[in-house]
Amino acid sequence: MDTDLGPHGTETVCQTCAIELDRIAEAAMLTGQDLELLQQPRRRINANIPVRMDDGSIEVFPSFRIQYNSARGPTKGGIRFHPGVDKTEVDELAFLMALKCAVVGIPFGGAKGGVQVDPKELSEGELERLSRAYVTEYHDSIGPQTDIPAPDVNTDGQIMAWMLDEYERIEGEHAPGVITGKPVELGGSRGRTSATSYGGAVILDAFLDAEDIPPENISVAIQGFGNVGSYLARFLDERGYDVVAVSNAAGAIYDESGVDIPALHAGYESNEDLFDLDTAEITNEELLTLDVNVLIPAAIEDQITAENVDDVQADAVLEMANGPTTPEADQILADRGVPVIPDILANAGGVTASYFEWVQNTTNEYWTKATVQEKLNQQMQTAFEELNEIKRAGDGNRTWREAAYTRAVESVLEAERLRSNIPTGAHA
Ligand code: GLU
Repeated sequence: MDTDLGPHGTETVCQTCAIELDRIAEAAMLTGQDLELLQQPRRRINANIPVRMDDGSIEVFPSFRIQYNSARGPTKGGIRFHPGVDKTEVDELAFLMALKCAVVGIPFGGAKGGVQVDPKELSEGELERLSRAYVTEYHDSIGPQTDIPAPDVNTDGQIMAWMLDEYERIEGEHAPGVITGKPVELGGSRGRTSATSYGGAVILDAFLDAEDIPPENISVAIQGFGNVGSYLARFLDERGYDVVAVSNAAGAIYDESGVDIPALHAGYESNEDLFDLDTAEITNEELLTLDVNVLIPAAIEDQITAENVDDVQADAVLEMANGPTTPEADQILADRGVPVIPDILANAGGVTASYFEWVQNTTNEYWTKATVQEKLNQQMQTAFEELNEIKRAGDGNRTWREAAYTRAVESVLEAERLRSNIPTGAHA
């Protein structure tokens, strides 16, 4: 295992994080010291993990855990299994986690983990050995009061169960608070699986309400029908939205009068393939440019880019994936007056329910799904109202993302200041 603790030196700066911070630096009155502290993660750990494959060979998988900021609490964030995972990506995702936890006011810092692997190429046994090996490798760096992983792209409750079991095997005792997104039988929280989507639905309702637009007859297109996209489609369908397009990696289906979400969601839950290249009606790229009221990228980062943003016709964007809009595209949408509800608010329901899970593990008192959803609703509404106030303050020209970054960065810096990690009063 290789660690990179260096807080100084340009090679440790997260470039995308620096770009995002620069955009709010003036409005949030960030000093050079503030920026230096926020542009780079506190701790990067990486490891090449050997895993025995079913045919007896050994394959080595590059992996990462990046603990971006711990001023507000133990670092928190998922682990993704994806062929595109690298240090740069995990840096940025860890940064977003630090901001996300601050936006919703939960007492965690931010982290992210990842393994460069295509899990679809692995057998179940290989997947289990890889999941367990990840924990063996990072065991000393995670813990219920230090760094708490969770699911992310291509990781789920079963993978969390293997990871928890491996951690507890090494510790020799139960430690459910080390990981969230676990199955309920192992101390997981009711309502966690659908929480990211539930939170997104609450935020979309709140956004339309703030704009005085009723949710009926609002058309939405959702890119991605994994855990987040599928539950969101169901929640929005139940709330009266017209879900006109959904997609998976193979392509999208589109019906102007609304697609049959209950049937598709049932298919998702029973692990059926929704559609393949032959049955897909339009491509993922075409889905992004549909003439809908709300476009919802719910897959992976960098989907709305400088190349395709001019074709985006939606009236608003709800970012359910992490980082789906590049900074250039974001600026173009802002100039066109298209509101983008940023990832660090829109998809924060997942980590908020993770916090509830951790609270239940810590107190050993377990809540009903209704209680979880009620608390989630309240926490998301409060975050929305706080950002709405920041957005409307001053000249009222801030975007939703600028409001969210401003709120988050101020909270992280205040915690750093209280710990004397930056000079008192350095931040005007
Ligand atoms: N992976 C989710 C996210 O990006 C959840 C993280 C967590 O629950 O810690 O927000």
